[in-house]
Amino acid sequence: MSGTVYLVGAGPGAADLLTLRAARLLEQADIVFHDALVHPDALALARNAVRVAVGKRCGRLSTAQRFINKQLIDAAARHRTVVRLKGGDPMLFGRAQEEIDALCAAGVAVEVVPGVSAAFGASADLAQSLTERGSSRSVAFVTPRVGEGETQHDWARPAAAADTVVLYMAGKQAQTIRDGLLHAGLPASRPAVFVENASLPARRLVPARLGELVEAAALLGDGPALLVVGDVYESIVAAAERDTAALRRTA
Ligand code: SAH
Repeated sequence: MSGTVYLVGAGPGAADLLTLRAARLLEQADIVFHDALVHPDALALARNAVRVAVGKRCGRLSTAQRFINKQLIDAAARHRTVVRLKGGDPMLFGRAQEEIDALCAAGVAVEVVPGVSAAFGASADLAQSLTERGSSRSVAFVTPRVGEGETQHDWARPAAAADTVVLYMAGKQAQTIRDGLLHAGLPASRPAVFVENASLPARRLVPARLGELVEAAALLGDGPALLVVGDVYESIVAAAERDTAALRRTA
């Protein structure tokens, strides 16, 4: 048996944001290796499949990448349809390339199925476009998080150069992000919004100015969170500030 491994994007959370192709592959799958963030409703589509959880939440026990690669190669030797289900889109901060390279080196067929990345789930929740005609023409996707054994990387310079920035793995990094972006020349007044659990009923939106990021991050829970920064968020942050001021007046 020489099966195919499908790297499938599961979207940001809500199961009905899966693509039709992802849903069909889950229904056909013999075995599914999935990330911790994948919604149980999405997994439920894989009725006939063995389901294997392989990771990954910051700071919690996760399966080493090399072992995941090996499991995928071994599974392709035993099954026709192997699904590797990843949060959001597989090709963004998902270590997809390591899996693709390992599978190709082992002679296993690989196909990638795109998903809705968290940035787009969050933008939908905010009803705020990442780009705006005339004012925001560039978007950067960055992460300040440096994995074990990785060399430091200057994420702040490209982030500061874009009109709008989406910072993945941002929840526990507020101080690093604030300091990095201020140091790279952004003003402390630049509007930003933390979005936790985008697309899910438990979603939480926390607007703030760059200078107040650490205080804002304290309002987040344990869910996955990203941060968007840019002038396109000015009206959202200004509205939240007006609400806070009104609350103070009535208190
Ligand atoms: N490949 C994924 C990203 C994986 S990195 C994608 O395309 O979305 C994991 C990070 O994604 C989290 O730390 C968080 O920053 C972000 N993320 C994933 N799901 C999210 C959600 N529902 N709401 C907000 N951020 C989310």
